[in-house]
This record gives sequence, structure tokens and C-alpha cells, in this order.
Amino acid sequence: MSADAPAPDAKFPRHSRTVNVKIVFVLALLLPLAGCLHDSKLGPFDCEPSTGACRYEILRGDSYDKLLLEINYVEGNAPDSTALDLVKQRISETTEKSSISVKQHAFGSDDDSYTLDEVMVIEDRERTRHKGGDTFVVHLLYLNGEYADNPDALGVAYRGSSIVIFKEQIEDAAFLFVSAQDIEKAVLVHEYGHLVALVNIGYTSPHDHEDPDHPGHSTNDESVMYWAVESVDLGNQLAGEPPNQFDSDDLDDLQRMREGTL
Ligand SMILES: [Zn+2]
Repeated sequence: MSADAPAPDAKFPRHSRTVNVKIVFVLALLLPLAGCLHDSKLGPFDCEPSTGACRYEILRGDSYDKLLLEINYVEGNAPDSTALDLVKQRISETTEKSSISVKQHAFGSDDDSYTLDEVMVIEDRERTRHKGGDTFVVHLLYLNGEYADNPDALGVAYRGSSIVIFKEQIEDAAFLFVSAQDIEKAVLVHEYGHLVALVNIGYTSPHDHEDPDHPGHSTNDESVMYWAVESVDLGNQLAGEPPNQFDSDDLDDLQRMREGTL
């Protein structure tokens, strides 16, 4: 799931049209000076507050050529290495990044149920890297326990570059023939998909593939963006192993975003 933070324009004071006009005018003067902004889709706004808003910075290679996954996990809840390998592979398949690296660190926690506000406080405390230079940074938080705001959630994409995974919930969701490892792979790729705005988060796909009953998700149960992939109930919603790849509609949306036409 994706938790929507304030819209990117929220930083502009809504009560003052004059201020907005001035800001737009100043930005218009500055734009030609910023070499990396020649493609208009790469706006000079801060994408970090909103899920999906950093899609161009993640997908394209012109602003940030490299990507770092900074992972902070509660002791005993480290990510599965094959799940990490898979999400790195999916990032490399869908972006123009020349390299993807990983940095991991463990920390202790006395809690076992976390609201979104608490998740954000932990991220702010543990996260050491943000985008800069030639590197875009995605932060993965691995927690024990459950998501207090929605105990069905196995993972949540929130803000523009932040994902939280509930490792014990993934272990509890495993069932006959479908391992926790298979579920973790699918959930990680799913949340990455939300960071790059799938499905229809802040854009409108030319393909009719958003599930009206589960906004931000695919209607195709063979796409990793199917809603049940991140639900503890996935065993009852999916036949067998959860999908861990994007379907042709997802991939076409991402290609159009990379090209700047969507
Ligand atoms: Zn989702």
C-alpha cells in the first residue's frame, strides 16, 4: 500500500496567490540554469514528501546515475538476501541506473506495533543517507511486529523514497508450498513499484489496468502490483506463489515515464 503524504505543492502557502505567482516566476528564471532540468518532467520540487513523486529521479539516469538501498532493520529481522537480489534486479531492469548498491545496519526495538507516524520517526532517527551527488537513495526499514494502522499490511511505501517491511507478518503469511522468502520477494518488488508510481499514482496510464476497488494497484493477478501481494491474506487471494514481476502494462508505463512522455 502507499500512504499518501502531503501533496508536493503543499509547501506553497495556499492562502497567497501572489506568493505562488512570484515563486513560479523565480523558478521560470532559474530553470534554464539548471542543466539537469531540461526535460520538463523533472520539476524543481522536492519529491520526498509524496509516494510516487520521485519516479523520474528513480527511473531516469540523468539526475542520479546510481542508486543506493539504505536498509535499517530491527535485530533478528534482516532482509532475505535473495529478496534483496531480486529487487536490485527489478530496479536494474526498470531504470537507467548504472549501479545499485546496498548498505545495511541493525538496531534494537522494544515495540511490536507501529503506526505510520512511528515508522517515520524511526526512519528519521536511523536513516543516514539522502539523495545527493550522482546517487539516489531509497530507504528500506525492516520492522518486527505489525503495522498498527493496517494489521493486514506486509509492507508500505510511504514518502517518496521510503519503504517499510513487516518481516514477522511476512513469516506469518507463509503457507503450504509458498515460503516466506517467496512472499518477501514479491512484497519488496511491489513496494518499489509504488515508489515509481504504479499504478496511476500521480499519472494516468494509457492502459486500463488500475483496480477500481484497490486504487494504486493492478487488476492483473499475475502482476506484482496486484493488491493482495502485500496482504497477510494473500494465501486466500492468490493461487500459489505470489507474482514478483511487473506485467506488460506496468512495464510500458515505466518506459513512458523514463522517456518523459507520461
Ligand atoms: Zn500496494
